[in-house]
Amino acid sequence: MVKHSSRIELKQSSLKANINFIKKIVGNDVIFSSVVKANAYGHGIHQFVKMAEKCGVRHFSVASSFEAEEVLEATDGKSTIMIMGIIYEEDLSWAIEHDIEFFVYNFERLPRALEAAKKVGKKAKVHIEVETGSNRTGMHKNEFPKALSFLKKNEDHLFFQGLCTHLGGAESQSNQFKIDKQKKRYKEFLKICKDKKTEPNIRHIACSAAALAMPDTVYDLIRVGVAQYGFWPSPEIYYQYLNENGKKSDASLKRIFSWKTDIMDIREVPEGDFIGYGTAFQASHKMNIAVIPLGYSNGYPRALSNRGYVLISGKKAPIVGLINMNLFMVDITHIPDANVGDEVVLIGRQKNNVINVSSFTNSTQLLNNEMLSRLPAAIPRTIVK
Ligand SMILES: *Cc1c(COP(=O)(O)O)cnc(C)c1O
Repeated sequence: MVKHSSRIELKQSSLKANINFIKKIVGNDVIFSSVVKANAYGHGIHQFVKMAEKCGVRHFSVASSFEAEEVLEATDGKSTIMIMGIIYEEDLSWAIEHDIEFFVYNFERLPRALEAAKKVGKKAKVHIEVETGSNRTGMHKNEFPKALSFLKKNEDHLFFQGLCTHLGGAESQSNQFKIDKQKKRYKEFLKICKDKKTEPNIRHIACSAAALAMPDTVYDLIRVGVAQYGFWPSPEIYYQYLNENGKKSDASLKRIFSWKTDIMDIREVPEGDFIGYGTAFQASHKMNIAVIPLGYSNGYPRALSNRGYVLISGKKAPIVGLINMNLFMVDITHIPDANVGDEVVLIGRQKNNVINVSSFTNSTQLLNNEMLSRLPAAIPRTIVK
């Protein structure tokens, strides 16, 4: 049974290029943690973990214990898994049992981790996340000395694996004053560790933008999401890179992902007729249209109604009418050689044309990350060279 009306292809060689590019910037001594939360930013966590391991990645970061479980299923068993976000109390023992590391983002979590570690009979590897200015998650400075004492006292059960924070908004120049404050505050936490002679095994604060553009944020590990998938974190980071390297353009980061389907049906529409639901599109001349077998329930944004396009025979075919729940129509009057069953590219390259996620998202105000991470997990993903 065919279970889905579209498919995603993931290009192994692009991932390899992206990882090499990032490693060249940060150096080989830094641990590369591949951030695969949100189904690997929509790429498909299972396939992506395998691809990354093939490129030598040995560390994965996720947002939750259930995502950690997916990585655990995909990995060859030799990689480290780190949970940056939610773990429900009932899953703490499971994490410790499987050597999964996790962020401790407030003091109360420490005694709970201790209890679970004792129960399992294994050390819990904790990363203390500290509050440096994002007011998201992270331990406050006033709780921190107490936490260090707690770690020291219970070092038979708790291993102080990391000290970390997250630089919210590092991709934007207008946030630099805030990022600078965060960097400074992080250093104050490190100083407290030193003074109390309770130091973390590793230190980490850099996401993609910081790793690419701020060398002073690169400590022992980087947590790389968006850039490994081939996206510059922002135009600013891209232009800064060009400027610092005296380049006019750069194609080092390559998109991994393409999204495809096939033409379901082709029909003729007489002049004056409407296409699809309601009166959103009226044919101004005799038209040939192709029916595409997916819609907003399959992750294709409804906001692209009457404004997006797909690629057929290497040519742009504009969307006509509304995106339906499971269908939409495109104009192929100018592509007379198109046939039922022909490949349709929704995102990616076909012959000399390309549809980027950004050309997609610019017209809909969706973030690249938002669009990607919403792609249904049920779409089959295959790895290509
Ligand atoms: C998502 C996330 C990252 C990765 O961010 P990118 O900008 O995609 O590289 C890093 N650290 C934390 C804590 C995150 O939640």
